[in-house]
Amino acid sequence: MGYVGGQWTLDVNGYTVKTGYQLLQGQHPSLQWYKEVWDSWFVPKHSIIGWMIKQEALNLRDKLHRLNICGSSMCVICEKEPETHQHLFAQCEYSRTVGFILDDWLCNAFTGNVQDMPILKSIRRLVQLTTWYTLWMERNSCRLDLVVRRPERLVKDIQRIVCMRVKMMLKEQCPASIEYSIWLRMRDTI
Ligand SMILES: [Zn+2]
Repeated sequence: MGYVGGQWTLDVNGYTVKTGYQLLQGQHPSLQWYKEVWDSWFVPKHSIIGWMIKQEALNLRDKLHRLNICGSSMCVICEKEPETHQHLFAQCEYSRTVGFILDDWLCNAFTGNVQDMPILKSIRRLVQLTTWYTLWMERNSCRLDLVVRRPERLVKDIQRIVCMRVKMMLKEQCPASIEYSIWLRMRDTI
C-alpha cells in the first residue's frame, strides 16, 4: 500500500494529501454507538464517562478484586452482586429505581402527537448519559462516605441538568414550537 514500484497506488493521479492522510489513519471498524455518547450539547465530562462505560473501562470492584487491588468485588451501593459495568449501570436495584422514575418523567413529558420527533431520541440519549455520570459520581461518594442518597434525590439532579441542556439546545427555537412545549412539560413535571 502507498508507494509500490515507484508508483503511488492510492490515487491514479499520484500522491495527494488526502490519500496520504488516509494511509496514515489506517483501517478501523466504525463504531455504531458513538452518537450515543458524543454530541455538541452533551456535557463533555459526561461523554467521557459514557465512552468509558461503553468500553467497560472504568475501574470497578469486580476488576480490582481480580487484580488483588480491592478486598471485595461486591457493588459499593447495594453490596448484593459483583460490581460490573452491567450491574452498576443497568441491573443494580438502585440504578433501576432511578431509571424507572426517569422513564415515567419522560413518558409524561412526551405525550400527544410528538412520538416521532427526532428531538425525543436526542433527549433520551442525554438522559441516559447524564444518569450514567450521576450514578458514577454517587457510587464514588458512597465508597468514600459510606452513604448513598435516595434515588429520588439523584433523579432531581439528573432532571435539572437535562432541562438546562435541552434549554441550551433550543436557544434557536421559536418559543411557540413543539420542541419548546416538550421542554416546558419536562421542566414543569420535575
Ligand atoms: Zn448494586
